Amino acid sequence: MSDPLAYLHDQIESWKSEGTYQRLRILESESAAESRFDGRQVINLASNNYLGLTTHPKLREAAEEAVRRYGVGSGAVRTISGTMRLHMQLEERIAAFKQVEACVVFQSGFAANAGTVSAILTPDDHIVSDELNHASIIDGCRLSRAKIHVFPHKDVAAAERLLAELDAAPGRKLLISDGVFSMDGDIGPLPGLAEAAARHGAIMMVDDAHASGVLGRNGRGTVDHFGLHGRVHVQVGTLSKAIGVLGGYVCGSRDLIEFLYHRARPFLFSTSHPPAVAAACLAAFDVLEQEPERIEALWANTRYFKQGLTSAGFNTGISETPITPVIVGEAALAHQLSRELFGEGVLATGIGFPTVPKGKARVRTIVTATHTRPELDRALAVFERVGKRLGILGG
Ligand SMILES: *Cc1c(COP(=O)(O)O)cnc(C)c1O
Repeated sequence: MSDPLAYLHDQIESWKSEGTYQRLRILESESAAESRFDGRQVINLASNNYLGLTTHPKLREAAEEAVRRYGVGSGAVRTISGTMRLHMQLEERIAAFKQVEACVVFQSGFAANAGTVSAILTPDDHIVSDELNHASIIDGCRLSRAKIHVFPHKDVAAAERLLAELDAAPGRKLLISDGVFSMDGDIGPLPGLAEAAARHGAIMMVDDAHASGVLGRNGRGTVDHFGLHGRVHVQVGTLSKAIGVLGGYVCGSRDLIEFLYHRARPFLFSTSHPPAVAAACLAAFDVLEQEPERIEALWANTRYFKQGLTSAGFNTGISETPITPVIVGEAALAHQLSRELFGEGVLATGIGFPTVPKGKARVRTIVTATHTRPELDRALAVFERVGKRLGILGG
């Protein structure tokens, strides 16, 4: 009998011949500023561990204590018997932190986006979405079966034109954007979008995965950064990046959260976080408020590293955040740059089409609060040496 899955093998072989096949690098230590991958100690510029919280002693202690007291699993989905006191405390903590009425925590940021968009809209509704929005937003839009209208990246006028065209159309309208875009590190034009949404009666939703813990007072996100409290109806954040653990959340009105408790499918049909995850996240919000110097260090490192890359002559695009791409053009060159950086002790991921447009392939770097200046200097020296060797830099 022939294997009915043989076509998968053929596809994998074609990825190998195109050079887009990805072998997973194995992290053999903690995720930290310097980590061991595949047997090699490298400066890690490829994590989302912005504030170094993956290894923070307070988070570790909280997780260990939760394991001792409550075990390792919650035993059920939230709506059956899997809502622990810790889950409720975390939601209350996040809602207070974000200055909103209520919050619901999902298993991941992906589940938060996909579960929320698909729950609050129907096939009669309309979504106006930035072309570079995250995959989890796109999947949520598709699952909702609402009509999807895509506007060019950060083009507020185009978004408003789409909303205006829909003024007469029946159905609800949702305007949705990432707060920080993950490939270019640029910030979404939220003030303009929120105004457009208000003018046309649309629901305004922001996905702050890369802004949570990074932008706004104590890392409250882009809504706080821009002073838009009360003007964004749905704020999504992640607990998997700067918070250092795992999960996603939605913040908004009490009604929004009650509705999601009843209708968001990942909430209803997938088991809740282990108590250790909820406890560690709770501790992370204490750290955000008690150790603002971490966010200051993150931004100081960001400025230093970005400046180092641009003065060496690299093209870092339009980044405004700790996500700094080094744009080199062709995907093969980006992957070669990434491999050679790794060979010299720096981990930074190569990213090509279709994740970024053709001709805009890049190596993406993310510095963290815990990188030291000597580490950043070493990384910059490696970038410069390899960049010259590959002809990305002149001289
Ligand atoms: C990482 C990311 C997510 C997903 O968050 P997880 O908690 O890792 O599932 C959602 N949206 C954006 C913009 C992201 O960058």
